[in-house]
Amino acid sequence: MKMIQAANIYKSFKDIQALKNVSIDVKHGEVIAIIGSSGSGKSTFLRCLNCLETITGGSIHIEGETLAAPDQTGVVKYAPEKDLKRICAKMGMVFQHFNLFPHYTVLENIIKPPILVKGVKYEEILPEAERLLAKVGLSDKKNSYPGHISGGQKQRAAIARALAMQPDIMLFDEPTSALDPELTGEVLKTMKQLADENMTMLIVTHEMGFARDVADRVIFMDKGCVVEEGSPGQIFTNPQHERTKEFLKTIYM
Ligand code: ADP
Ligand code: MG
Repeated sequence: MKMIQAANIYKSFKDIQALKNVSIDVKHGEVIAIIGSSGSGKSTFLRCLNCLETITGGSIHIEGETLAAPDQTGVVKYAPEKDLKRICAKMGMVFQHFNLFPHYTVLENIIKPPILVKGVKYEEILPEAERLLAKVGLSDKKNSYPGHISGGQKQRAAIARALAMQPDIMLFDEPTSALDPELTGEVLKTMKQLADENMTMLIVTHEMGFARDVADRVIFMDKGCVVEEGSPGQIFTNPQHERTKEFLKTIYM
């Protein structure tokens, strides 16, 4: 089954066309790296999938369910509220700037959303949160506040928080871009571990080494369009489009 089926997506902000006819299918367990220069629409695409933005054209199906699709008149209609929340909850998102609640400890950051949003009992989520903290290597920081841990630790806490909602799909928007270089490795390692566990993942990244090692497929976006997609081998060693070649030149040392 297709986990994500995004077809002919258009998104405009007033006079800016941020996405122009973007189509991406994602299978279960696939890891997709989305690359491209700043302003190419990568974040907007993830935000549209995760219902943080509404699309202006096209359709999105998540695990076979319609999130958004045009009606008979061609106007995009979203699923009814209750379905919308449930469908969006299938996706967890990790942002560049962590977005942890500063006044909650690491543990509270992880357990509050399932309790408040899903009504999960404290006794049920606690062992799960402990398991996730161990998985991302943060057991010893569970009682720390976000202001007192490193950027890499914050991002690993953010990953654990997203996983606590039991998503089927994880979306990452430049998860290591705000980190000092020596801290990116620990976050990428956590992401690789998730990929090895067969999590379906869409990752916007500038970490080309990581994309090459971990992604099943690489998608290059430019000016709101998918220009080229293929295996990491194809995209990195034998790009077909001039724009892909140009971009890779700017990003490779
Ligand atoms: P990327 O993540 O690839 O850097 P974005 O998706 O952030 O690109 O942006 C794509 C285009 O959409 C850019 O021209 C950006 O300025 C514009 N854009 C993104 N979000 C908004 C917004 N909320 N309002 C207006 N324009 C936006
Ligand atoms: Mg972005």
